[in-house]
Amino acid sequence: MYHYTHSPITTIEFNHQTLYIKRDDLLDKDFSGNKARKLYYYLTHDFPHITKVVSEGSIQSNAMYSLSVLCKRKGWDFLYIAHSLPSFLASNPHGNYYEALQNGMKVIFSKEEAPIDTNTLWIEEGAREREAQWGINLLAQEIVEWQQANAIGNLAVVLPSGTGTTALFLQKYLSQYNIVVYTTPCVGDESYLIEQFNSLESRLHPTVLKLDKKYHFGKLYRNNYAIWKKLKADTGIEFDLLYDPKGWLMIEQYQEFLSDKTLLYIHQGGLMGNESMLRRYERKYPNL
Ligand SMILES: *Cc1c(COP(=O)(O)O)cnc(C)c1O
Repeated sequence: MYHYTHSPITTIEFNHQTLYIKRDDLLDKDFSGNKARKLYYYLTHDFPHITKVVSEGSIQSNAMYSLSVLCKRKGWDFLYIAHSLPSFLASNPHGNYYEALQNGMKVIFSKEEAPIDTNTLWIEEGAREREAQWGINLLAQEIVEWQQANAIGNLAVVLPSGTGTTALFLQKYLSQYNIVVYTTPCVGDESYLIEQFNSLESRLHPTVLKLDKKYHFGKLYRNNYAIWKKLKADTGIEFDLLYDPKGWLMIEQYQEFLSDKTLLYIHQGGLMGNESMLRRYERKYPNL
């Protein structure tokens, strides 16, 4: 059976404040970040009847890529219902899409093409599943062990959300230790994120900090690219380009409010997806 070792925690300086970074991007070369945590349950349990996984979502998603790694390791077929497949990508595969194809993913476009039978494991878009709690609890335990070993006071955990599954299950576990989780929505608005929380748990939700500006998921923004570049230059750490810029914009916007807390930022991986994002950003802002 396959086990992760603990991911390391490093410190950085950001806007004259010291922050800790939980480096879940370093968990494993092929299977890292919060998707590795969310899928850990499936990786470490036996499913004798399962021969295939079916899921759905966008064609460059980090969840899609991580599912392809899971299926390869388990010897399962992987059918992915894509929302769309742009023709430039079909003729020039790259990024998560390319890597998932290498791992044997088969792309389809409707549920009818993937009949769900007793041998099928259906996984919700973005792995928004109760089973995600299994691996996220391990992440939370690592955080508590580190906090106690280093006698860290007034700890707050910060991370950006897609489905909100990671932030939600972190908060559920860390509530016992009076640790608050702060997050900001990257997909949809605050009410959408709270709806997503409620679909899994009705209480112990993370605290949502809204950004001043409205962003559309997957679109390119100059300030997102700029903060990503600044972090890379100042800290040497590469963050994800889709979610992390919003996480850091949140920290910047709420700096005053968060200033009395010790911040632990969760690096949720997703770096494979940067290839396609970076191509688009470099084309859009060549001089930044
Ligand atoms: C998937 C992903 C997220 C969002 O995780 P949720 O559990 O859906 O909120 C955030 N950051 C990165 C890098 C991701 O790949």
